[in-house]
Amino acid sequence: MSQLKITVDPKSGFCFGVVYAIEMAENILKEENKLYCLGDIVHNNREVDRLNNLGLEIIDHKRLSELNDCKVLIRAHGEPPSTYETALKNNIELLDASCPVVLKLQHQIKEGYETIKKIDGQVIIYGKEGHAEVTGLVGQTNGEAIIVTTKEDISKIDFEKPIYIYSQTTKSPKAFQIIVDEIRKELIDLGKDVDLKFVVHDTLCRQVSGREPQLKAFASENDVIVFVSGTKSSNGKMLFLSCKEQNKQSYFVSDTKEIDENWFKNSNSVGICGATSTPRWLMDEVADHIKQIS
Ligand code: SF4
Repeated sequence: MSQLKITVDPKSGFCFGVVYAIEMAENILKEENKLYCLGDIVHNNREVDRLNNLGLEIIDHKRLSELNDCKVLIRAHGEPPSTYETALKNNIELLDASCPVVLKLQHQIKEGYETIKKIDGQVIIYGKEGHAEVTGLVGQTNGEAIIVTTKEDISKIDFEKPIYIYSQTTKSPKAFQIIVDEIRKELIDLGKDVDLKFVVHDTLCRQVSGREPQLKAFASENDVIVFVSGTKSSNGKMLFLSCKEQNKQSYFVSDTKEIDENWFKNSNSVGICGATSTPRWLMDEVADHIKQIS
């Protein structure tokens, strides 16, 4: 019998944006045996496979442009205006499960772009190039927003012009602050009036940033941490780093197959937690597996 205390973090798991999109897909699939979804409904392969078995087919933008007269689900990350135009042209009914937090941000960026354009300024988006949410955000600016992912990308900014900065919802508050500080420093070094030139919009999702302190507390309460997440999840990477900072014995897994029993030798407790895209059933599966091997 295992002496290892195994706890699944009650605060980990789907955020409301993901719950909403998955519930919408499940409800439609109860009535219809097939539904298209544009991009992975959630950055978790195991959950995608589960929904796939219920009839959900993941498609990309190329496939969308080839489809006609059907229904397509838009996931929580949102989409740029071009997707809505394609749907209209091809008589596709879009079932929009874009997260309300993302929709609000899209709206905010669109308004900011309209305002700053009049004074020849620039919209900066701190986020990952190619990430679906970021593509949707850039789409609000006619494709003109500058994406900043690393400190080096700051060189893409024209410091002679006014700057509005926004963040992808799932980035780390600390990392966003580093970028903001770098831009501010550059403006000061160039002798610019920072208050006049630079407006910071903190558009991080509190569903993610609020989890960071909770997760750190959870990580320090357990000898070993097993963090469960898909490798494509942006907040998964960010939240795992927070665990690792707090507890060196933290391991990232996407599946039970990646778990090594040696991790638990000489330990009394293991905590299982995950990203906003990690299903609860997968964390429970990981807990059961550890119970069997420890
Ligand atoms: S992390 Fe936040 S913005 Fe992203 S889907 Fe969840 S609730 Fe919405």
